Amino acid sequence: MGGKVIWLGAGAAPGVPSLSFGWGHCRADNPKNFRTRTSTFVEIGGVRILIDTCPDIRGQMVRNNIRYLDAVLYTHAHADHVHGIDDLREVNRIMGTNLCIYGGAKTIRYIKHNFSYLIAKADKVKNVVRTPSLVPCVVKANHPFFIKGVKVMPIKLLQHCPECLGYVFNDGEYVHIADFKRVADSAFKAVLGRPKLMSIPLTTPYGAIQHAGLDEVRNVIGRFNPERVVINHMASECDYDEVNAATDDNVLPAYDGLKIEF
Ligand SMILES: [Zn+2]
Ligand SMILES: [Zn+2]
Repeated sequence: MGGKVIWLGAGAAPGVPSLSFGWGHCRADNPKNFRTRTSTFVEIGGVRILIDTCPDIRGQMVRNNIRYLDAVLYTHAHADHVHGIDDLREVNRIMGTNLCIYGGAKTIRYIKHNFSYLIAKADKVKNVVRTPSLVPCVVKANHPFFIKGVKVMPIKLLQHCPECLGYVFNDGEYVHIADFKRVADSAFKAVLGRPKLMSIPLTTPYGAIQHAGLDEVRNVIGRFNPERVVINHMASECDYDEVNAATDDNVLPAYDGLKIEF
């Protein structure tokens, strides 16, 4: 089908600079090191999908002029991936319709519990003009679904608590990996042929109990073997030039607003 991905924000939960560590290991004179939190916009075959609503989502959507969405996918129920959800009301207002949000069972439960005022009431789902709101849809790893003809396969990401899903679009046109320590073996089977483009998080180069480091990220890239890779979700330990130098030629660190067509 072809499409494009915009990395709306390339930062981990604290952003760069962060309140506690400032620029950390990042060179302050490189504008690519200024990072808001992680949300990603995917347009594929004309279908417009947002992955995660980070706390910086309002500014990200204004800067990139994103006003219409066909769906929102959630990877997991951490604040840096969810807590901008209130700003979806603006999309409801612009479009005058309900908006479907997809996520794993625990993620959707978290959203329904903590943001119940945003969820479409059963009797109001059809009443889209008066009270446009969010319609939650639970998805499961390895069970594909379609958004207006785009095939989306949720894949299981392991050892990052709470449960976390990645998403494979159209059998591998675009592969989106979210916070992970390990990728389930079943995820690699969701990709047919060589992926055109992949996004993968590198929170710190040396990793942590819940986050993959550079070695684990390289290993996953090797197994998927995509044509192009973008590294995102970087904390202040990840300097743009250093990550770029430490990775292969087909691997690019993300920066806020990076756009790649495939
Ligand atoms: Zn995160
Ligand atoms: Zn997380």
